[in-house]
Amino acid sequence: MLVYNSQTHRKQELEPIEPGKIRMYVCGPTVYDQIHIGNARTFLSFDVIRRYLMFKGYEVTFAQNLTDVDDKIINRANEQGRTAAEVAEEFSNKFIEQMHRFGILDPDIRPRATREIEAMQEMIQLLIDNGNAYPVPSGDVYFSVRSDHAYGVLSGRDLDQLRAGERVEVNDEKRDPFDFALWKAAKPGEPSWPSPWGEGRPGWHTECCAMIHRYLGTPIDIHGGGADLVFPHHENETAQAMCAWHAPLANVWMHTGMLQINEEKMSKSLGNFYTLKEVLDRYPANAVRILMLQTHYRAPLDFSFDRLEGAVSSLDRLSSCVKNLRWAAEAAPADGKLTEADRALGASIDAANAEFTASMDDDFNTAGGLAAVFGLVTESNKYLSEAAGSIETAVTLRAADTLVELCGVLGIDLSRESAGDELPAELVTLAAERAGYAGTNPAEAAEALLNARQEARKARDWGTADAIRDGIAALGLIVEDTAAGARLRRKKD
Ligand code: AMP
Ligand code: ZN
Repeated sequence: MLVYNSQTHRKQELEPIEPGKIRMYVCGPTVYDQIHIGNARTFLSFDVIRRYLMFKGYEVTFAQNLTDVDDKIINRANEQGRTAAEVAEEFSNKFIEQMHRFGILDPDIRPRATREIEAMQEMIQLLIDNGNAYPVPSGDVYFSVRSDHAYGVLSGRDLDQLRAGERVEVNDEKRDPFDFALWKAAKPGEPSWPSPWGEGRPGWHTECCAMIHRYLGTPIDIHGGGADLVFPHHENETAQAMCAWHAPLANVWMHTGMLQINEEKMSKSLGNFYTLKEVLDRYPANAVRILMLQTHYRAPLDFSFDRLEGAVSSLDRLSSCVKNLRWAAEAAPADGKLTEADRALGASIDAANAEFTASMDDDFNTAGGLAAVFGLVTESNKYLSEAAGSIETAVTLRAADTLVELCGVLGIDLSRESAGDELPAELVTLAAERAGYAGTNPAEAAEALLNARQEARKARDWGTADAIRDGIAALGLIVEDTAAGARLRRKKD
């Protein structure tokens, strides 16, 4: 499969360092506020990349940090009269909560900067010993960009041109304006740790690099983040790794395009943002995913609520199709005879699988992957209307399963769409009366009722068991005892 390496500006064959395994790292958020949907796009892109690699059979180890010490966190804490640790804790939890709502898989390793100070200090000391870093009287330690001949290679920048073209921070203590802080001397009231260079805290670029080395070992297979991180963050990360351990930080660098609003990058500082939370409060996570995955991860993505409404309709088409296929398959007699239409649907399923994989193998082309899925939706709907009366159970179920599986690879969880809506809400009242259930979820209510019925039967309390069954039947459902336990299903007309 081909992946685009932003260091070489080319697609290349993915060649894992260890056969069958992929070690990947994606820079995590600075936890001082709710993340916006631009940040979420980057995390979503890598979630899908990771899921697809797993689908292809790779054993993926995924690490993502939380930047829980930073100027922004300290400023927010000062504004609110709280400690930086309190702010970081609150927004780390909120970040994780929103990632779960969005269906993003947890990383295997989630290091937090404030708990990795030792690893960072070791790396800084190594850089000083190697002649690539220098402490200054104020207590800061800087990386010397001039000491690294490869500096600028990742982002394709030349230091002399940079100096001529950009205004850079003036600082008497730096030997070069592009030198960056590995360690920052503590100012009064800031979180700090003791170090050989005085009380202070790590610089942002230092964090990721030391954590990658500690948890994944360098080089890793894939390092990712938003395109805005290429320079200086990733350039600085790779410079440190090369100078500390004489090995590149990553084999492949992957960067996501920016989510934009009215053709302008969405960012906190411009104020043109929507938080992931407010969007997920109003729209299903699956629809937001569909919207984002309709654009290739490297291209800029223009966000609008009109487009999101469009994605809601697409999601509806998709989940209705899966439900209709399942109902039709259940209602169909199993005659085992294949008609022309059955064979055509079988061929469409194979074609959708092939198109999906071919697209995703080509640098994770999710737009192509979704097109394969929706192509199968169209063919399935055609089959359902044209083959009505002679539906073939196996091929119909296979179409539904294929849609669910391919969507699952994209993190579009169709079970969320049907959760609850096939079960009547009255189950909740029935479960409250008969099973002491106190929640509001019909699926949980069904579970509670089935458990209560089971208990009653065990206790030979047939009266209660039958009353539960009758209550369920009055809602148009039947209790079906299967090998895997009892479950509810709708009565067939
Ligand atoms: P930050 O917390 O600012 O470091 O951002 C977390 C992640 O979100 C980084 O990988 C950024 O590159 C990414 N990011 C920030 N803004 C956007 C945007 N508008 N679109 C896509 N990714 C973004
Ligand atoms: Zn990073």
